[in-house]
Amino acid sequence: MINEPRVRPSISELPAYKAGKKVSGTGALAPFKLSSNENPNVPLPSVLKAIAEAAAEIHRYPDPFSTRLVEALATRFDVAPQHIGVGTGSVGVCQQLVQSTADAGDEIIFAWRSFEAYPIIAKIAGAMSVQVPLRADGGHDLDAMLAAITDRTRLIFVCTPNNPTGTIVTQEEMDHFLAKVPSHILVVVDEAYVEFNCDNSAVDGMKCFREHTNVGVLRTFSKAYGLAALRVGFFIGPENVAQAVRMTAVPFGVSSIAEAAAIASLNAEDELLTRVNELVARRAWFTDNLDELGISYLSSQANFVWLPLGQHTEHFATLCEQQAVSVRPFFGEGVRISIGEQEPLERILVLLKELDS
Ligand SMILES: *Cc1c(COP(=O)(O)O)cnc(C)c1O
Repeated sequence: MINEPRVRPSISELPAYKAGKKVSGTGALAPFKLSSNENPNVPLPSVLKAIAEAAAEIHRYPDPFSTRLVEALATRFDVAPQHIGVGTGSVGVCQQLVQSTADAGDEIIFAWRSFEAYPIIAKIAGAMSVQVPLRADGGHDLDAMLAAITDRTRLIFVCTPNNPTGTIVTQEEMDHFLAKVPSHILVVVDEAYVEFNCDNSAVDGMKCFREHTNVGVLRTFSKAYGLAALRVGFFIGPENVAQAVRMTAVPFGVSSIAEAAAIASLNAEDELLTRVNELVARRAWFTDNLDELGISYLSSQANFVWLPLGQHTEHFATLCEQQAVSVRPFFGEGVRISIGEQEPLERILVLLKELDS
């Protein structure tokens, strides 16, 4: 009898990561993807130029330490380079953080729902996911997260604005929380969408990092900076953790092209943040329309909006697909709609109006 090669049971149990779906156009309707929280703007000419220049050198390995990018980030965030670790997207950095902190059986606490990659990454590392339900308003239940801490807790992710609800943790909530988390436990503030936040009461991850010895910040170039396909993200945190993040990285994972594009993006930050502001304005326009229609949604500080459609989720996602728009359904719970181009959002508003009448 021939046996298949053995794969760790925990790997076959992994939930498949559901990447945002692409829809095909239907007849006269151009397709749009509002399912992956991507930036709808094409890259800036200055960024494309940096990419083209880096492309001429791809017969060489990239700098394994992304030294130039780390230096640019150190200047931008006013921290010593020793506090920084980069990786292949902030998902890559999440993986490095889990591998850096958790041994088999150790516990990682995060809210649920939150970023879908957390439980997958934990399981791959052999760590235990401790999922603490969100409050009814979609916010993090930090008291319950505190109560979930045990001797085995090594890492806590706080995702703000939270994917997929768009809700923020306030500075005040975070200050209370951090005052009670034992200092040997790392708290990572996942700020993948922070550039889209305009609520002044929201937590400032860098402030927490400066005030506590056990706090780090996770950022990405994929969302506000529009480099999703290039895979580059970074961590700013305690020196020993940043060092571990560098040591657990895939060797040469951040390509020379990604590094050059990230540096060019930092140099073009004002231009990019102007585009971010346009998306924030579009979010306000979209939710104003939802208000007018009397559709309930969670107040979002990210580049997406959560509609708690419950049992109607699947039907609604199908209707969107018929309009050649992909959204991100979480079956039985709700749908996450990225603030992408204006046109597909208009189609969705028409749909909602029809459903309403
Ligand atoms: C999109 C996202 C990331 C990171 O994406 P990368 O493309 O891997 O940088 C990290 N955290 C959250 C919560 C996200 O939604």
